[in-house]
Amino acid sequence: MIETGEFDFENRLVAPQVIKDDDSDTDYSLRPKTLSEYIGQDKVKENMSVYIEAAKKRGEPLDHVLLYGPPGLGKTTLSNIIAHEMGVNIRVTSGPAIEKTGDLAALLTSLQQGDVLFIDEIHRLSRAIEEILYPALEDFAIDFMIGNGPAARSIRIDLQRFTLIGATTRSGQLSAPLRDRFGIIQRLELYSTEDLAEIITRSAVILGVAIDREAAYEMASRSRGTPRIANRFLKRVRDYADVMSDGRITKDIAKIALDRMEVDNLGLDSLDKRMLSMIINGYNGGPVGLETLASAIGEEAVTLEDVCEPFLMQLGFLARTPRGRCATELAYKHLGIKKPGGEASEQTTLY
Ligand code: ADP
Repeated sequence: MIETGEFDFENRLVAPQVIKDDDSDTDYSLRPKTLSEYIGQDKVKENMSVYIEAAKKRGEPLDHVLLYGPPGLGKTTLSNIIAHEMGVNIRVTSGPAIEKTGDLAALLTSLQQGDVLFIDEIHRLSRAIEEILYPALEDFAIDFMIGNGPAARSIRIDLQRFTLIGATTRSGQLSAPLRDRFGIIQRLELYSTEDLAEIITRSAVILGVAIDREAAYEMASRSRGTPRIANRFLKRVRDYADVMSDGRITKDIAKIALDRMEVDNLGLDSLDKRMLSMIINGYNGGPVGLETLASAIGEEAVTLEDVCEPFLMQLGFLARTPRGRCATELAYKHLGIKKPGGEASEQTTLY
């Protein structure tokens, strides 16, 4: 029998986005402030440090930067670091927050020479707002219509030369004209277990928590390649360590805590497993249509698509075919289920 419905999405422990339970003050204190404190993403760091140094040498603002990649990988953090390294101010906003053209105009006119304007979720800007942005990015000016009808005229307001940093999880949804206006485009990758273990160790020092090396690795390997999840695990596991022992996080405590929180050794939670086991047990491994699958487990199709599928596909546990979703051999193995006609299998730890 497969359990259905009632999943607490707002507090999903393995969500890469900010969840209700995340504490913004602690998150702020854990944010690296300089490029040298920013762990991993070596290629991006190398490139950015060259661009920053060159711009500083020429005494010019940095070219506009587009950062893209899944949520929780450090796009906002990196944008703050770029502003810090350039020695300029940063104004932070997001695509959905800019509703009126006047909102954007107010932001742009408030920028000083060299300042950074950071727009998160830039793919969600409306067309009308994008139109204002084009001349701002290219000519550092905005055009305004004043009055109505035959008396209407356009006036141009000059802006200070600034740097736009756009962040997006969906670069494919960015319009081509907007994308073309970024001189620097950098993709952030999922982090290795080593890098995540280093991030956890660094955060533990800041939070004043004692942690064993193997414990940091245990948590890192379940963090789905995402620093935001790694830091969240640290904060939760610290509570277990405080209650179960003297506060030191050992590998055993990390394991017990994460097992109790139903995060398995690869970072799958109960929702991921429900989806996979429904495909396997309910539909003989698939193919099964997404809508059918969603109603079988009592969730919305978009939830499964946005929340579970990217990670399951990345692990190679789920395949999308024209006829629907299929569980792969690896998924059978991971769940310890024997595939009909396949080899006998057992639960595995690593792929
Ligand atoms: P995004 O904007 O891509 O969603 P954030 O910049 O908000 O991600 O990063 C999420 C959290 O992960 C931050 O609070 C920060 O503490 C941590 N983090 C992200 N990248 C790194 C990194 N390279 N090194 C250390 N910590 C990081």
